Amino acid sequence: MNMVDITAAQAAYRDELVDAGLLIPTGVDGLYGRSGVFEDVVERFDALVTRWGGRDGAEVMRFPPALNRQYFEESEYLKSFPHLAGTIHSFGGDEKAHRTLLRRLEEGQDWTEDQVATDVVMTPAACYPVYPTIARRGPLPGEGKLIDVFSYCFRHEPSIDPARMQLFRMREYIRIGTPDQVVEFRELWLERGREMMGSLDMPLDVDVANDPFFGRAGAMLSNSQREQKLKFELLIPITSREKPTACLSFNYHQDHFGHLWDIHTADGGVAHTACVGFGMERVALALFRHHGFDTAAWPASVRKVLWG
Ligand code: ATP
Ligand code: ZN
Repeated sequence: MNMVDITAAQAAYRDELVDAGLLIPTGVDGLYGRSGVFEDVVERFDALVTRWGGRDGAEVMRFPPALNRQYFEESEYLKSFPHLAGTIHSFGGDEKAHRTLLRRLEEGQDWTEDQVATDVVMTPAACYPVYPTIARRGPLPGEGKLIDVFSYCFRHEPSIDPARMQLFRMREYIRIGTPDQVVEFRELWLERGREMMGSLDMPLDVDVANDPFFGRAGAMLSNSQREQKLKFELLIPITSREKPTACLSFNYHQDHFGHLWDIHTADGGVAHTACVGFGMERVALALFRHHGFDTAAWPASVRKVLWG
């Protein structure tokens, strides 16, 4: 399939999902409401993740889908992904500026001139609030830390591909500790992820991957990330067999976040980190693609895994 065909297939699947009422369009590409059926699948998959990972003793943290802007600035996200970031701005003008705003609005002109950055930035990945939070607690305990998060995430990547949303949910487990602890965690989840997703009876593949680092320097970062096998993805075809979609990601950040936030292990070393991320909407979309829009008609084995 060439690019044009892929785009057409993405648009077609989106239309099917909208016609079936599973996605509720808002007029903006990548921004959708979801039906009760869609949400039920997301909730059941979330519970499945807990069934596989819930016995490891993770500390549960739930953050709103926004970050302290200072944490965001310190995270260096703007170095790597300035094109994806979403900052929250609010009106900061006086009454005169307000009158101007209303006039511009009325005239259909740009009214955003007096919008100023707030202290809040949209969360780009569910794990971002965790590192500064753990850093504030001081050195890690000997066994390191395991955290469980779930959050809406924002990325400015409008697309007609229903699997590439601007606001989507990510469940994550995050391991922070010594290199051995962290590498072991990622190996464990690469195996588990395969098995867990295998139980949902969909074709899948695990492959090395890279993040979409910005610009020419970014291309070098992407290459080095691939060469060092720092990122793996579990891929399932959704809109194209040739270009399957990343539904789970397994990321090893080495000591990047440990350095950035000054996170130390019990023996004084710089902490390493890794995370496994589950793309909730993508998994739901994959299930609808492979088993149909009527969840009551899904294979009995899959229904049993999700609904018991
Ligand atoms: P991609 O390479 O497709 O852009 P990613 O590798 O950048 O995705 P991660 O940053 O690893 O994605 O995010 C973790 C998980 O979140 C992904 O495995 C995927 O399931 C999900 N995800 C990422 N971006 C989106 C998006 N735009 N819409 C829906 N889900 C997404
Ligand atoms: Zn993460």
